[in-house]
Amino acid sequence: MRHFAIVGSGPAGFYTAEALEKAYGEKARVDILDRYPVPYGLIRFGVAPDHQSLKAVSKRYDKVAESAGVDFIGNVTIGRDVSVAELLELYDAVILATGAPHDRKLGIPGEELAGVVGSAEFVGWYNGHPDFADLDPPLGSTHAAVVGNGNVALDCARILAKNHHEFEGSDIVGHALEALDQSAIRTITILGRRGPHQIAMTPKELGELGHLEAAVPVVDLADFPPVEADEPLEPGLRKSVTLLRGFADLPPDKPKRMVFDFFAKPLRIEGDGKAERIVVEKTELDEKGSARGTGETYEVPASLVITAIGYSTSPIPDVPFEGGKFVNEGGRIADRLYAVGWARRGPTGTIGTNRPDGYEVADQVAAAMPSGTAGDRAGAEGLKRLLQSRGVMPTDYDDWRKIEETETARARPGSPREKFVRPEEWLQAIGR
Ligand code: NAP
Repeated sequence: MRHFAIVGSGPAGFYTAEALEKAYGEKARVDILDRYPVPYGLIRFGVAPDHQSLKAVSKRYDKVAESAGVDFIGNVTIGRDVSVAELLELYDAVILATGAPHDRKLGIPGEELAGVVGSAEFVGWYNGHPDFADLDPPLGSTHAAVVGNGNVALDCARILAKNHHEFEGSDIVGHALEALDQSAIRTITILGRRGPHQIAMTPKELGELGHLEAAVPVVDLADFPPVEADEPLEPGLRKSVTLLRGFADLPPDKPKRMVFDFFAKPLRIEGDGKAERIVVEKTELDEKGSARGTGETYEVPASLVITAIGYSTSPIPDVPFEGGKFVNEGGRIADRLYAVGWARRGPTGTIGTNRPDGYEVADQVAAAMPSGTAGDRAGAEGLKRLLQSRGVMPTDYDDWRKIEETETARARPGSPREKFVRPEEWLQAIGR
């Protein structure tokens, strides 16, 4: 019998578990560990609450967790409760699927001011991440800005732009919905340091903006190259740019505006003890397509500034780490130690990108220790003994189902669940 530990229960972790389960069947046991008592990582804490069709992928992960050879072991923090070296003693292979939960920083003056938050914090706040339940983003003024031209920037801007009724059917947490109901924000400026041809936003996500009840997207066609220049673009990007151009035809007859401000590079954030404005420099593209400052500056008012410029992985003691992710070659970090997903590649790609990624690493594991060859590691039994000796009480998949049932039972009408946002609430729900 082989024993495998996957650290992290988001998409990358679950696709890897699925692949290992397929490769080994009953000849291996796969444990998916998570620091929280609840699984699904990015799906629960990162995917926008009004994108329930994306969140539905967790049903597929349920199937994996329910298969005989796979277990969920929650409420265990690697690097604190148990080290990677100890896991390698207990398991034949350890696969790190810890994602990229930390915000990259802009590195400009004023970033430390109150009112400047990273997208991981803001997304975590409205998605019920326990670390960000108390974020209390300032929503009392009329202007907000989101820095970045990727899909996360769009998520943050859209959540600020929607009215109460548009969150029906979502699983946005109660504290965020109440705060957004009281929001005074009317202008959300989305700052891109480059132009419309350099956006990282996808058509489906951009298309939604044209149909919001209370907000209209605004573009300045002067920022766009001539329409013929769209022709050679990759089809997805061409569609996105066409959608953006189309925003110029929308009547500005809604109370909120989402203003796309291209070629605008943040220089500093200013204000009296809190963010009040961003000073940006107008840019142009250089020969390599990078943003080059023109020296012309202007101010964008914003009491809430959300930076959505990418993420980095959390380092784990004794695991080589560089450039915001674990040092690896094709997923292999060291003998019997692997990384998958954003912890392997950095924060790019869709949820589905993690599937081939997980399968590739599972193939490597299976090549190194073919199914049917014997292993003599203690696996979950040994891990649980060790955790018990340290006073750590893990949760299992049945515990998660109880938590989920309680969250579903207390949901507001039309919402799939009302998430618990404090670890003690999770544990109370399972009688601890
Ligand atoms: P992203 O797609 O990499 O976009 C990051 C953006 O930040 C880029 O526009 C980048 O501009 C900008 N940026 C980086 N450094 C900057 C700086 N110093 N100053 C100003 N701008 C800066 O990252 P993301 O939006 O965090 O998304 C992460 C991944 O998750 C992506 O693959 C995304 O598609 C995916 N995602 C998908 C969905 C969905 O499918 N619904 C939702 C959310 C996220 P440059 O291009 O100039 O570097």
